[in-house]
Amino acid sequence: MSSVTVTLPDGSTLSVERGATVEDVAYEIGPGLGRDTVAGKLDGELVAKEAPIEEDVALEIVTEDSDAYRSVLRHTATHVFAQALQRLQPDANLAIGPYTDDGFYYDVANVDVEQDDLEAIEAEMREIIAADYDVERVERSRAEATEMYADNPYKLDVLEEEAAGEDPVTFYRQDDWEDLCKGPHVDSTGEIGAVSLLNVSAAYWRGDEDNDTLTRVYGTAFESEAELETFLEQREAAKERDHRKIGREMELFSIPDVTGPGLPLYHPNGTTVLRELEDYVDELNREAGYDFVETPHIFRTELWKQSGHYDNYVDDMFLLDVNDEEYGLKPMNCPGHATIFGQTNWSYRDLPVRYAENGKVYRKEQRGELSGLSRVWAFTIDDGHLFVRPDQIETEIESIMGMIFEVIENFDLTVEVSLATRPEKSMGSDEIWEQAESQLRSVLDSGGYEYDVEAGDGAFYGPKIDIGFQDALGRTWDGPTVQLDFNMPEQFDLTYVGSDNEEHRPVMIHRALYGSCERFFMVLIEHFAGKFPLWLAPEQVRILPVSDENLGYAHRVKNEFDGYRVDIEDRDWTVGKKIQQAHEDKVPYMIVVGDDEEDAGTVSIRDRKERELKDVSIAEFRTHLDGERDEKRDEPDFLE
Ligand SMILES: [Zn+2]
Ligand SMILES: [Zn+2]
Repeated sequence: MSSVTVTLPDGSTLSVERGATVEDVAYEIGPGLGRDTVAGKLDGELVAKEAPIEEDVALEIVTEDSDAYRSVLRHTATHVFAQALQRLQPDANLAIGPYTDDGFYYDVANVDVEQDDLEAIEAEMREIIAADYDVERVERSRAEATEMYADNPYKLDVLEEEAAGEDPVTFYRQDDWEDLCKGPHVDSTGEIGAVSLLNVSAAYWRGDEDNDTLTRVYGTAFESEAELETFLEQREAAKERDHRKIGREMELFSIPDVTGPGLPLYHPNGTTVLRELEDYVDELNREAGYDFVETPHIFRTELWKQSGHYDNYVDDMFLLDVNDEEYGLKPMNCPGHATIFGQTNWSYRDLPVRYAENGKVYRKEQRGELSGLSRVWAFTIDDGHLFVRPDQIETEIESIMGMIFEVIENFDLTVEVSLATRPEKSMGSDEIWEQAESQLRSVLDSGGYEYDVEAGDGAFYGPKIDIGFQDALGRTWDGPTVQLDFNMPEQFDLTYVGSDNEEHRPVMIHRALYGSCERFFMVLIEHFAGKFPLWLAPEQVRILPVSDENLGYAHRVKNEFDGYRVDIEDRDWTVGKKIQQAHEDKVPYMIVVGDDEEDAGTVSIRDRKERELKDVSIAEFRTHLDGERDEKRDEPDFLE
């Protein structure tokens, strides 16, 4: 019998017989652990405790105390859901039902399930949990499984794909019900402490829009009711911050069907915020010595062939036929900027050359992936491309990281930083990769940035630093990026003349401070729950005349706030109602003007945190506003 080496989480190793199961190894470590084993993780992948170990591998035993236990529990909950559904709708065809980061879903066909039906299914699930059925692993021949699923094209597809070549295949059974499945599962349905079905949506089979549309039911499960309660409360709070909801309420943007999927329209309020965001990065770019350039939205595909995008990216591009010649909407701004650089003869003394453009790009994402502003077909990158000598990489990256973190700290965002290093397939010499990676590391280390190294995750053309933003739901979104590129200068034959009078290749740096401006906008909407800081707020100040008699004075006061976005509430409402509406509209400051204020030539100030001060001098308030806006302070703080 040959043996294989198993590496345990503490770094120790164990030699076991080839074909030994996860459970066998657990028993070998100790009988207690053997009995407690629920599942295993082989090289990070969650597997059943019956899974055999066929090669050298890293193994983690999963017990009730492991982080992965909840995933196993949720996987069993998907089975409980499917069984409950088939009890109520016996003709339901089951497709796949995986666990996710915060719960599970099951894709099903031939059903009639709407939001209103979830309660009844949930009740049936509770019965199954209360009955505490054993969950047993069953093996069946491939032929038998194929026959069982004669009327279920999805399970047949799973047999072809996920279970390709396996015979026998495994099922999991509870009570009189079973499902084709590799596991793992908890031992009995009663181990599920609490379940909840959350919502219903449509999904394409295998995420491909050419396939059948299935019904996807989302749910979640926890060890206890208390944990479920906490989760549901957090979810409600996050829903209140959903950028699609706030986007509608504050009239920031819309994505109507008529304009096409993933093609957002920015309304005046949303455009105001986006403009302010762009002005902010423009200012940072100007201070850091960038020159602004502008390129069109479409180019001949010759350009995309030269840059290499046509070969690697054509499926995501929008192509157009113009007078028998092919053009493409730009998915990236870099080729345009590289072409601009290539039109000039550069000396080593001219470098670095830094170009900036807030350029709209177009990428054909799968329709099923589009959602609000998080994934769209058209978005703006606050793009920058630098052309530098190899010895300038470190200083430039340092300055870019400084700019990125100025933005992050300004908004007090939670981020994750990662350094992605050389992949197996890559271009450029060992020497330049080593030099580039060590310069990136040195910037991160000396700057005191916390980061993960994603070994081998760099682009084929160079290493990169990626920064992800966390949103209100704890999801991470692609944000700023700094990428070194040895390839594009080759493709575009970019050169500069060195001090040795020879021609040299510059290194190109791609960078963005926000990433996608629209996605950053989304993160900010949820981060602030629509309560934007003064400098971003679409409406910064609202003047509330106590009665129509004070309208004239209201207009005179408004004139004192030139340069601010100020509206006068002139509807025939009580002051109380006017204040309430301003709160709902999330306006940072209200100026209340009645007879007293008019007689004294002063104003009363309220803020959206319901604080109030009477008899304020207009000049004093204006001076405060200038400081709060120019320093981009987070919260209205005049009344602090
Ligand atoms: Zn399963
Ligand atoms: Zn680029």
